[in-house]
Amino acid sequence: MNLRKINNFYAVKESNRVFYLNENKEFLFYYDLPNKIVTLQENKSNIANYEFILQKIANDFWSGKITQTVFVLKMFRFVRKGFEGAFELGMKSIGILPDEILIADRLQFQNWLTDELLYVMPLSNYILNNQQKNFGKWSLIKNRMKLWGKRYLDILNKSRTLGGFDIKLQWNLGATEKSCKSCLKLNGKVKRASYWAENNIYPQNPPNDKLECGGWNCDCELLPTDKKLTSGRMPNLP
Ligand SMILES: [Zn+2]
Repeated sequence: MNLRKINNFYAVKESNRVFYLNENKEFLFYYDLPNKIVTLQENKSNIANYEFILQKIANDFWSGKITQTVFVLKMFRFVRKGFEGAFELGMKSIGILPDEILIADRLQFQNWLTDELLYVMPLSNYILNNQQKNFGKWSLIKNRMKLWGKRYLDILNKSRTLGGFDIKLQWNLGATEKSCKSCLKLNGKVKRASYWAENNIYPQNPPNDKLECGGWNCDCELLPTDKKLTSGRMPNLP
């Protein structure tokens, strides 16, 4: 029996089923590994929609339609909603339903969310100083909001490395990827979810010291796969 420890839990895989045990090795619950994989295509509309709404909220503040307070509140609400959606979609794509998500994984998610929300106030000050009435350029803010939009994919990718400790994930090069050598080196590599997480190798995750591009504009994806694991060591990164 191949028992693995993850945080305060044990997990064991038997054919297509993963059993979770508590610290006393008593059975908690199980989940079945996915037979359906959520593809990049299906994710694309969610990612585009997340960025679209962020752009809208920022534009309303830039043009003076809403106040700074309303902007901050809207951002808090919407980023939370978006992150939760990305987290649950990531989990679903590796076969874990919302009510099966481990508390430890929810806590990890809360950390990611809290980190993101810390940047909302500085962002609001930046937009305030660059509002339309002060002749600030929308293009500057728009570019910044694009980076915020990328975080949806970031959370989606990271979520898959949590509960799916035993799942194989393949690095798929993003559509707009041009010059990042690190992403090219990683493209096609298949490793277990736990491997990506333990080695802190993720797409996005800015500022990402494993990627030459810093991960800011990366749209690579870690996708569940049943291809063979890549043997040997990882290339030198970044
Ligand atoms: Zn990339």
